[in-house]
Amino acid sequence: MGQRILIADDQKGIRRLLEELFKREGWEVILAADGREAVAKTAEFKPDIVLMDMKMPNMNGIEAVKRILTDYGDINIIMMTAYGEMEVAKEALKAGVKECITKPFDIFELVEMVNDLVNKDCHQKIV
Ligand SMILES: [Mg+2]
Repeated sequence: MGQRILIADDQKGIRRLLEELFKREGWEVILAADGREAVAKTAEFKPDIVLMDMKMPNMNGIEAVKRILTDYGDINIIMMTAYGEMEVAKEALKAGVKECITKPFDIFELVEMVNDLVNKDCHQKIV
C-alpha cells in the first residue's frame, strides 16, 4: 500500500535499525536526526505515522510534536521516551501523541503498535 513512516532520532544506530526494520515490513521510510528536521520532513513528506524520540538536539521531541500537531492534527505519532521519563510521556499524550514506548523497547512490540494505529485508522474510515 506504500505507507510512509518518519523516524526521528538523534542516534544513528537507532535510525538505521528502525529504517531496516520498517523497510522490511514494506514501509517507505523517511529519517530525521533532530526535532527541527522532523517538523520540516513531516511537512514535506506527509507521513502516515511518526516515531519521535524525546531527547534530541536543536528541538526536542515534545516541541516537535506540538508543532506537527498544530498543522497536522490527525497524524499518528508514537513518542519514544527513556526509562523514568513518565512526566514527559504524560505531557506528550496530553499534546496528542497516540502512544508512548519506553527505550529500550522490543522492536516487535513497536511494529505491532505501529500496525495497530494504522489499522485503526483504516477501520475508522470504513466505519
Ligand atoms: Mg535521543
